[in-house]
Amino acid sequence: MTGLGWGGKAGAMKKLTGQDRSITTRWRPATQAIRGGTARSHYGETSEALFLTSGYAYDCAGDAAARFAGEQKGMTYSRLQNPTVEMLEERIALMEGAEAARCMASGMAAMTAALLCQLSAGDHLVAGRAAFGSCRWLTDTLLPRFGVESTIVDGRDNDAWKAAIRPNTKLFFFETPANPTLDIVDMEAVCRIARDAGIVTVVDNAFATPLLQRPLDYGADVVAYSATKMMDGQGRVLAGAVCGTEAFINNTLLAFTRNTGPTLSPFNAWVVLKGLETLDLRIRRQSENALQVARFLEGRVPRVLFPALPSHPQHELAMKQMSAGGTIISIYLDGGRPQAHGLLDALELVDISNNIGDSRSLMTHPASTTHAGLSAEVRAEMGVEEGMLRLNVGLEDPLDVIEDFDKALRAVGL
Ligand SMILES: *Cc1c(COP(=O)(O)O)cnc(C)c1O
Repeated sequence: MTGLGWGGKAGAMKKLTGQDRSITTRWRPATQAIRGGTARSHYGETSEALFLTSGYAYDCAGDAAARFAGEQKGMTYSRLQNPTVEMLEERIALMEGAEAARCMASGMAAMTAALLCQLSAGDHLVAGRAAFGSCRWLTDTLLPRFGVESTIVDGRDNDAWKAAIRPNTKLFFFETPANPTLDIVDMEAVCRIARDAGIVTVVDNAFATPLLQRPLDYGADVVAYSATKMMDGQGRVLAGAVCGTEAFINNTLLAFTRNTGPTLSPFNAWVVLKGLETLDLRIRRQSENALQVARFLEGRVPRVLFPALPSHPQHELAMKQMSAGGTIISIYLDGGRPQAHGLLDALELVDISNNIGDSRSLMTHPASTTHAGLSAEVRAEMGVEEGMLRLNVGLEDPLDVIEDFDKALRAVGL
């Protein structure tokens, strides 16, 4: 943190800021989610302060020069640093077990920065095929325009990752569980394949969050987040984060983000700080609720995918990597889009919404919403069928969610 030292006596500072990494890194993640990164001002406020400021004033011209030269700690401009944003960055880094983290304005800003900051024309990247629609647009459409070739593989197939490596392969990129098919990538195996070939692995960990799964423990190099999802957790703000080593963040990522400006607003950072305080409670309860709902749906629809169900094709691997199943369930109906849309329209409690990670239960039809921008072939290859629906299970009483599905499924003949 560069934000320490806002007044107070020397003896009081430690108590006020509490930011000794030899202590905070020893805390367990649920504690870090509440206290990690907190840097108090001289007022000693208990809840993190919100610094809505774009600039900073200096005591003298020499101080300004020293800060710009990197010789004096402190803030210069909120595109580069902000005290509230830095608190969130430190909190996420601690939870992730990463040396450092930087926050971005959205999950896609984080994914874009994590890729573009280290790829150049002539490089090659390998990506898992089941992915968030916009992530596929990055790998399939944007990067090739700048001379970066990509190979898309079935992320579940370890040999496919290995076979896709070329002399110029720079990076592996995947999410696990993947959106929306809940494919699981064997992180230990795939990260080892990458390491052996000198390739950097970037993992999109939005579904699991650091509380259910920490990719760095399995050999990943960079972890990127949409903090819009479980980290905020109440459907309020967009935010993203990139975690990695100090060297990666300082020498590779920062030049890109400071000059291109995908900066997170301090207000949104503050909202996510508040969200993280309840992340452990929410993700465990929502994962339990999701398991109950998934068990119910399994008896009523042709196919249910949920990592914590033994029927998930990669159940054992998922449960080795994750401490709970997460909040997302995908179901497949035989009646194509009409039946899928019919089910959505018959729901009373569960909202039709393409967001996830919310405390509300939300359901969407990926083929006509989140993945509509992809070609029909890419959708088919990813397993995004016309009869597929994706459900985010919230914090409501799961019995109310189950009753809602019971009625809606009857309405479409199931
Ligand atoms: C939502 C999401 C993103 C994009 O995040 P935004 O905050 O919406 O920009 C990227 N990856 C995954 C897996 C997501 O679920």
